[in-house]
Amino acid sequence: MTTSRPYGPTDAEQTLLDRVRELTSDFAANAAGYDERAEIAVGNLESLHAAGVTRAILPEHLGGEGIGYQAFGELVRVVSEADPSTATLLTMHSGAGVGLAELTRDTLGDFFATEFLSGKRFANALSEPTSGNRFLNPQQEAVPVDGGWSLDGAKRFVSGSELADYLLVNALVQGEPTFFAVVPDETVTIIPIWDTLGLRATRSQLLSFSGTVLRADHRGRSPRPGDFAVVPAGLPAISLGIADAALAALVAHASGRQILGRPLSHQQWVQHAVADAQTRLEAAHALFQRSLWQADQGDPAFFSNLSRSKYLANKTAVEVAQLAVRVGGASGYLRTSPIQRHLRDAEAGQLMAYSTEVLATEIGKEVLNVEDEVA
Ligand SMILES: Cc1cc2nc3c(=O)[nH]c(=O)nc-3n(C[C@H](O)[C@H](O)[C@H](O)COP(=O)(O)OP(=O)(O)OC[C@H]3O[C@@H](n4cnc5c(N)ncnc54)[C@H](O)[C@@H]3O)c2cc1C
Repeated sequence: MTTSRPYGPTDAEQTLLDRVRELTSDFAANAAGYDERAEIAVGNLESLHAAGVTRAILPEHLGGEGIGYQAFGELVRVVSEADPSTATLLTMHSGAGVGLAELTRDTLGDFFATEFLSGKRFANALSEPTSGNRFLNPQQEAVPVDGGWSLDGAKRFVSGSELADYLLVNALVQGEPTFFAVVPDETVTIIPIWDTLGLRATRSQLLSFSGTVLRADHRGRSPRPGDFAVVPAGLPAISLGIADAALAALVAHASGRQILGRPLSHQQWVQHAVADAQTRLEAAHALFQRSLWQADQGDPAFFSNLSRSKYLANKTAVEVAQLAVRVGGASGYLRTSPIQRHLRDAEAGQLMAYSTEVLATEIGKEVLNVEDEVA
């Protein structure tokens, strides 16, 4: 196998990561407030853009700097450790922006790349009430009208949709899943039901489409191997960042809390449980790093290994956060403790497509050589 990138970030990528790390202490300090208010931390998104993150993420052939997968994964993880809602918004915005520039490359690609670089906001409006987790298999049929197709229906959990200048939308056109850029107009409205347990500051709203025209000249091709897989690479990193934050909160609590004159960290059950959790977390990090490295080499195995990374990262984050709740005791259960927030956020990772259940089916079938119906 030819190696096109080293293991780990390049010098330029490391400089970017250092810049982002500097921003994240503020992100971490304010995360609880944004979560409490279910408010998007717009300032975080603006600082990431100002730090050069947008230009770094856009692939070189689309006019950006073309950050590698390993650096992208670490960037999202670092942001997520401080504020996972910001990391989720960064991932979804970048996935939609890079996606639209790539999918419409032969037509409007330059326009979307320029808009992305200028700081315009993008959102993925893919999940539907009826397709659930299979967000690339829309069930809603768009019907032909002058200049394109008309969509009546809904898209759910559209992270950052209130800020979005452009939406990446899919729908069935003559029975085929088809991708479009949509500029939200009066036919696209928000059904304000956003009040969730976790990742509250993503404001992933339910959108209603009423006769929205999916313009023929805004139509893109389908995603294909070779496209920069922003969302699949970002999702494991979100959960790993949450797990890292939960472990840090656990350690801080166990070190500071005195029980019968000794720190809680001196209790053997805590040491054994932490050994188990931390070792699993290291393994999840290692699998993710290897998958990203494979992606940077162009090894096609990376895609199914990213699925495994998401599966393991999602589950490990919940396990670590649950342990943090046990170690935190009643004080970790207070709203003022970060521990309860990490558990709520960790749960969301498992729900985001593809969910751990859907991934388990895919991975299990692959291992067992089962080639049958779509689950
Ligand atoms: C915080 C957050 C942010 C999100 N952001 C975005 C976004 O920006 N854009 C976007 O398009 N979507 C987004 N989503 C949506 C997400 O990615 C999923 O597509 C969506 O949550 C799944 O829909 P659902 O709630 O209907 O769950 P369902 O799909 O109904 O899942 C319910 C249960 O059924 C299981 N299940 C579902 N399908 C299968 C199957 N085929 N086989 C086996 N089990 C199955 C699931 O694992 C789960 O346990 C977001 C979700 C969350 C929680």
